[in-house]
Amino acid sequence: MDINDTAVFDKLESNVRSYCRGNSAVFERAEGATLFDENGEAYLDFLAGAGSLNYGHNHPALRDQLVQYITDGGVTHSLDFHTAAKRGFLETFQEIILQPRQMNYVAQFTGPTGANAVEAALKLARKVTGRASVVAFTNGFHGVTLGALAVTGNQHHRGGAGVPLDNVQRMPFAGYLDADMDTLAYFEKALSDKSSGVDLPACVIVETVQGEGGLNVASGTWMRRLQKICRAHSILLVVDDIQAGCGRTGTFFSFEGMGVEPDMVTLSKSLSGYGLPLAVTLIRPELDCWLPGEHNGTFRGFNHAFVTAKTALDVFWKDEQFPTEIQEKSKFVQEFITRMCRDLSPLKLSAKGRGLMQGLSFDRPELASATAELARERNLVIETAGPNDEVLKFFPPLTITFDELAAGLEIVEDSLREVLDEKIISPIAAE
Ligand SMILES: *Cc1c(COP(=O)(O)O)cnc(C)c1O
Repeated sequence: MDINDTAVFDKLESNVRSYCRGNSAVFERAEGATLFDENGEAYLDFLAGAGSLNYGHNHPALRDQLVQYITDGGVTHSLDFHTAAKRGFLETFQEIILQPRQMNYVAQFTGPTGANAVEAALKLARKVTGRASVVAFTNGFHGVTLGALAVTGNQHHRGGAGVPLDNVQRMPFAGYLDADMDTLAYFEKALSDKSSGVDLPACVIVETVQGEGGLNVASGTWMRRLQKICRAHSILLVVDDIQAGCGRTGTFFSFEGMGVEPDMVTLSKSLSGYGLPLAVTLIRPELDCWLPGEHNGTFRGFNHAFVTAKTALDVFWKDEQFPTEIQEKSKFVQEFITRMCRDLSPLKLSAKGRGLMQGLSFDRPELASATAELARERNLVIETAGPNDEVLKFFPPLTITFDELAAGLEIVEDSLREVLDEKIISPIAAE
C-alpha cells in the first residue's frame, strides 16, 4: 500500500462520493482545526465536517472521556434501553441547555443522521395535525431521504429522487426577492384566502441561516412574523438547527434571542461534539403523541456519542466564555469579509451569513469555485454553497485559534487576489 494511494477509492467507491473530488489527500490524523494526510502534511480545516466538528477534531477532553468509557467496558449499543450514558446526556442537556433557556421539550432520539431527525419531525407534525402538506422554503436543505428531500430545494439533490416529491408547498425565504420585500406576505395572504390553492399545512420547516442554500439569513423580525402566522393558523413551527445550532451562530440554538419558541427543533451534526453520529428531535411535550415504537430505528441514541455530547456541554456551555469567543471570532471574519468586498471590488463580492457561518458570494459563481480550488492547493479545506455554488463558505471549528483563523483567511485572500490578478478576471476584462 502506497502512501496517499487513492486507487481503491476510484475503483471501488460509488460515483456518489463528492468532497474527495476537490481534495484527493488521504487523511490519517486530525487535531483541532488541522487534518494530516498520510505524508504528515497539514491541512487547515475550514469545513469542519459541514458543521459536525464545532469543537474541532479529537478534542482531548472529549476523547479522554470516550476512551475511558470504552476501556471501562461501557455499553456501546443498547437500542433504546436505559443506559447510564444516555441518562448522563439527558440530565446535562436539561441542566445546561434547556433549563437556563426556559425551554420545555422532550427528546426523541432518532436514527443517527440529520435526515432522520427531520423525517421524525415531519411525520409527527402530520400525525398531530392530520394534515398531509408541509411548508418549506426556497433554498432550504434538510437532508436527502425522501421526506427530507421533499422539503429540500436543491435541484441536484431532488433530481436523484426517482419519485414525485409531493405534499410540500414552497414559500420564499427571507430576502429571496428584493432585500426589502416582505416574503411572508404571500404566505399570510394565501392562508387567509380559501381559494388561494394553498392547503393548510401541518408545519413549516425552516433554517434561521440556510447552511447549504447559500448562507441566507432570516432576521429575528422575520422569524417572529413567521411564528405569528403559524400560530394564527395552528401550523407547527419546526426549526431545523442541524447546521446552525450547537454554537455555530454564537449561541447554542441559532434562534436564541429572537423571541421564537419552535414547536420542534432538530439537532444533529455537532450534537455529539466529536463527529460521532447522533440526532435528536426536540418536541413540545403536548405534541408527543407517538405510540411506543411507532417511529423506531436500530441506532437511536448511540452511547459513545452520548458520552462525548455530555462532555461537550460540560466543557463549553456552562458559562458565557465560549459564546463570547465565538462572537469575537465571528466579528473577525466579518471584518475580513467587509475588507474583501471593498478592496477586491472587481470580483463583485457580497457578504453572507452570520456567526461562524459566513461567506463571500460571487457575482460570477465560477469564481467562487476557482477561489476554492486555489485555496485547496494551499492546503485549506474549504467548500462552496448556494444554488450555483456561488458562495465561498468559511466554516472552521468554533474552537479554532485566532492565529489559525487569520492564517486560513490569508489563504483565502491570496487565492482571491490570484483569481483577480492573473487567472480569470484579467483576460476577460481585456476583451
Ligand atoms: C446536514 C443537514 C441536514 C441533513 O443531515 P444528514 O446527517 O446529512 O442527514 C438537515 N438539515 C440541515 C440544515 C443540514 O445542514
